[in-house]
Amino acid sequence: MATKKVKQQAREVLKDIFGYDEFRPPQEEVICSILDGKDAFVLMPTGGGKSLCYQIPSIMREGTGIVISPLISLMKDQVDALTRCGVKAAYYNSSLKAAEAKEVMEKFENGQLDLLYVAPERLLTKTFQTRLAKVKVALFAVDEAHCVSQWGHDFRPEYVRLGELRESFPDVPMVALTATADIHTRDDIVKRLGMKRAKRYVSSFDRPNIRYLIAEKRQPLTQVLQFLEDWKDCSGIIYCLSRKRVEEMAVNLQRHGIRASAYHAGMPGRTREKVQDDFLRDRVKVIVATIAFGMGVDKPNVRFVIHHDLPKSMESYYQETGRAGRDGMESEAMLLYGSGDVNLVRRLIENVENPEQRRVEVHKLNSMISLAESLTCRRKVLLGYFNEYMHDDCGNCDVCLDPPEKYDGSKQAKIVAKAIAELNGDHAVGFIVDFLRGSKSKRILEKKYDELKTHGSGKDINADEWTAIVRQLVHQGYYNQDISRRAALKPTDKTPELTKANAEITLSKYQPGIKRKLKRFSTVKDNTLFKKLVELRYDLAEKEDIAPHALLSDVTLTEMAQLGKIDDVESPFERVSGMGKHKIEAYGDAFAEVIRSHVSKKSSKKSANDKPALLTKGPSATDTQTYTWNLYKAGKSLDEIAAEQGMSTKTILNHFIALVRAANYVEVKDIIGEERFKQAMEELRDADPYASLSEIKQDLEVELTNEEFRLMLAWREGIGVS
Ligand code: ADP
Ligand code: ZN
Repeated sequence: MATKKVKQQAREVLKDIFGYDEFRPPQEEVICSILDGKDAFVLMPTGGGKSLCYQIPSIMREGTGIVISPLISLMKDQVDALTRCGVKAAYYNSSLKAAEAKEVMEKFENGQLDLLYVAPERLLTKTFQTRLAKVKVALFAVDEAHCVSQWGHDFRPEYVRLGELRESFPDVPMVALTATADIHTRDDIVKRLGMKRAKRYVSSFDRPNIRYLIAEKRQPLTQVLQFLEDWKDCSGIIYCLSRKRVEEMAVNLQRHGIRASAYHAGMPGRTREKVQDDFLRDRVKVIVATIAFGMGVDKPNVRFVIHHDLPKSMESYYQETGRAGRDGMESEAMLLYGSGDVNLVRRLIENVENPEQRRVEVHKLNSMISLAESLTCRRKVLLGYFNEYMHDDCGNCDVCLDPPEKYDGSKQAKIVAKAIAELNGDHAVGFIVDFLRGSKSKRILEKKYDELKTHGSGKDINADEWTAIVRQLVHQGYYNQDISRRAALKPTDKTPELTKANAEITLSKYQPGIKRKLKRFSTVKDNTLFKKLVELRYDLAEKEDIAPHALLSDVTLTEMAQLGKIDDVESPFERVSGMGKHKIEAYGDAFAEVIRSHVSKKSSKKSANDKPALLTKGPSATDTQTYTWNLYKAGKSLDEIAAEQGMSTKTILNHFIALVRAANYVEVKDIIGEERFKQAMEELRDADPYASLSEIKQDLEVELTNEEFRLMLAWREGIGVS
């Protein structure tokens, strides 16, 4: 067990080197377990903060941490960023010239490196293995660990032999990390890497800072241009289905003065590399691309992803939208949904030769359509598809922000439930709707379904409306769609509730044509000081020949822009996230200068443009919540915050619930009290998963108020413990 002292040291490294105040769950646990010499398997979504899990132990443990990564293009960025923090890091791959490689190996052998990034094929060469045997290895970190599994979506043969490491270095802790692995893949990774005793850390798949938005496609170019208005000067990706559309869109955007480039597999390799590099370096803001773009592009400040056309599956949608907002700041994913595209994708699928694969692809497409047409919280549908269930609506998708009309659908739900029960077989949504409407199709007549009592029991409602109703019942968890059985509806534990006499089922009214009037973001993007800081970062990065985001993150610049007058404060940058000692030393003066001159100009001329922006990471908080947040960040306790605002602690706890839901980091344990928090967490862990929340609350031995209980749940949901 890692001692208190070790934990303290890890926190110091976090603050001094990386400039962060708090670990995110479950970073601290992972780090401590590696420091204890144990293996770990880490599944965290993109942007969750996987890198620190191995970087900090590599710095703390004796010897060099070996990081195995398949993406050569990412290694340089990572090493650039680490070096700027004062960490001794290098990479060793085929992009190095002979002399450079030699220099790296010398440093490595002399024990001068904290971290060494290596491509798997290099790692397993005889010469490198001999070297490894001679030096002290702090740990092995296998990044993108799904590549080792044939189940995963990106199997790489050169990863298979990594299992040998466990045998050759039985005493060196190993950590495998990935953002995408279903249950099979997880088991497979652990088995193949020989990490049977590894503790597994699995976080929620949710990306709360990404706002999901799905709009009916009408005039795509106008819609895209309008959307871009809101994200001026920000980086983003626009995905199109074909190369032709990519090129047309890129030209159209350029005509409108947007710094956009096209990217697709038909372009020469060198051009593609240049486009990618320009994007990483902020020389190009918008990439219009086919799905060929993205793998190995690790840009943390992508603010938006647009799907101009329908993705083929929820998996692609999740992965592609997931490229937005890795830095945790508010970001947006917009999908333009048109029925013409559905037909286009269907035709593409018809060309697939293997009938089994064709069937799977049809079902995957249908799930995607069902998301696009869903009238319930998009995030619920998306996460539900990956078997993760959310209690509350997210408050940060178009459906939540601009909800459709609701009605009591208990009667309709009963009709559906009775029909499905009477049919008692493997039937998908379309068939059930036909049956309800009293269709006399060949399939219905052949099976004599027209003789059943419920046949035609829904004649008075049209097919679109019925489809919407049945889909909502799926989204609300009353039925499962079994992808392996032609998307047939399967009852769940919740199904019996539908036919209870007092059932209350609320449904959303189907509305053809999606109206979307959304409140805009409150980000810093119109903040002139922020823009000046971005410019300075750009210039410094160009000078050092690295990507701007490897120098300082957008989060860091946002917080700097909020500092206000800095001369009254001693070492103002110490409070800024991402400003470790090394960076304060190297860049503090330059940025302080910009802030100073801006603030003094501003006080002589009040600019309405410079409202201090709230660093929201999800749905925008209200003003009072923001106020609570600022007091909290200033170190005030719950009681003090309540007193200062003349509000009850109950109200303030409600603010915290909203803030946590919006993905702001709150140390809930301190608010609730460490003892009670721990005990409650433990009891929650053992709670009956099918019990209702009020039942769970009643069964708790620790006394919690309703608000405290909800705060714990919000926090727990945020870190994805189930
Ligand atoms: P992943 O590899 O899981 O996609 P990264 O390791 O690249 O994510 O981290 C995503 C972002 O979050 C980075 O900008 C990183 O610096 C930041 N980050 C990670 N851990 C913390 C933390 N404890 N506090 C603040 N920021 C963090
Ligand atoms: Zn939602």
